Amino acid sequence: MRDSCDFDVVIIGAGPIGLCCALSLAGDGLRVGLIERQSADSLAQPAFDGREIALTHRSVKLLADLGVWPHVAAGDVAPLKDALVMTGGSTGRLFFDHRETRCAELGYLVPNHAIRAAAHRRAVAEPRVTLLHGRQLEGLRFDPAAARVRTDRHEELSCRVVIGADSRFSDTRRAAGIGADMVDFGKSMLVCRMRHETPHLQTAWEWFQEKSTLALLPLNGGESSVVITVPAAEARRLQVQDADAFGREVESRFEHRLGAMRLVSTRHVYPLVASYARRFVASRCALIGDAAVGMHPVTAHGFNLGLQGQDCLAGELKRAAGGDCGAGASLDRYEAAHRRNSRVLYFATNAIVRLYTDPRPLHRLGRSVGLVDRLVPVKRLMMSALTETRARGSWRAAPERP
Ligand SMILES: Cc1cc2nc3c(=O)[nH]c(=O)nc-3n(C[C@H](O)[C@H](O)[C@H](O)COP(=O)(O)OP(=O)(O)OC[C@H]3O[C@@H](n4cnc5c(N)ncnc54)[C@H](O)[C@@H]3O)c2cc1C
Repeated sequence: MRDSCDFDVVIIGAGPIGLCCALSLAGDGLRVGLIERQSADSLAQPAFDGREIALTHRSVKLLADLGVWPHVAAGDVAPLKDALVMTGGSTGRLFFDHRETRCAELGYLVPNHAIRAAAHRRAVAEPRVTLLHGRQLEGLRFDPAAARVRTDRHEELSCRVVIGADSRFSDTRRAAGIGADMVDFGKSMLVCRMRHETPHLQTAWEWFQEKSTLALLPLNGGESSVVITVPAAEARRLQVQDADAFGREVESRFEHRLGAMRLVSTRHVYPLVASYARRFVASRCALIGDAAVGMHPVTAHGFNLGLQGQDCLAGELKRAAGGDCGAGASLDRYEAAHRRNSRVLYFATNAIVRLYTDPRPLHRLGRSVGLVDRLVPVKRLMMSALTETRARGSWRAAPERP
């Protein structure tokens, strides 16, 4: 039965989640075709894209199990010891201290392009994975025994299951007739690396202010990733601003707490749109990564969640290996498990973002009387999702920080 199809599984999108899923499935003995619109060169040497991914301990273990972690250079891994959440108008500060967990750090920061490069290097060495780059999905057709994937090179590939890993604006999702609820936060996120005078002490900051949100992610070598969330036009202005003027503006946005700041990378802007697919599966089709759940980056969990999702799906498809891995029950079990795993985190994240940043009077009142600061259980959910440890964030004065 298996040999009547070109592949057991075809994955659309060789982003970090598509690549990891291909490795998981190949490890389970399945033959995988991976379709990606980017060229072979840009997959092998992805450019810096400004994203620094906060990896949980569980994600590092999953990457190690897939053989990806050894391909990440030690210099690209920055320990994330502590985290500090601050709100502009109110006095509360929520400090998450790694000493309150059983771990030496809350997690690790690794550049997205380094994860992609490592996963790609591992995938090209895997004989059961065929990487079909420079192509894009043109259409899908499903019949009772197979899914058929058409590319813009006029190929038609048959498989038992097609998996969409092609971003939150997924063409696979649309071609499979699956809807998604999208939330446009009306803001954009500018990300870049900066060197600064005052040490970051390996502490991440999330600083919600009335008109913008600032974040600082501690990297190696006296640098941090600076994340500025502002209206789209302002993000574009900051992106093209003269580098020295940009440095001075960021210094002042951080109220000079980090001393002099200097831009040391390219600047990247991402519009803030979250998405949640109405279904994660259809007949002979499944969605993973951002195509299933496109998280707001504030909880730093899109990739971590995607990694768990692909692991769950691969486990279900493995259970059917030898038979028809596209048959309904495996996909249904994945749908139920991934929905359970993602729903609360997704909706709580969106609610927190609105509560912290919404300019409407009720939300402003809530912030001014410190209501937001008392939502410790919700914030604890965010942080324990980040650390995937039993971290207990506590309201108390944070130790003296810059
Ligand atoms: C600023 C920022 C910071 C973030 N920080 C964190 C963090 O700290 N922790 C965390 O866990 N997550 C974080 N995330 C989220 C994380 O980056 C994403 O969840 C993750 O990259 C999703 O991976 P993916 O493979 O599903 O999708 P993508 O990375 O979007 O990859 C999709 C791939 O599909 C390809 N593709 C698309 N359409 C087609 C098509 N029609 N045909 C063929 N190929 C196609 C694309 O070229 C691309 O290679 C952050 C995101 C942003 C924007």
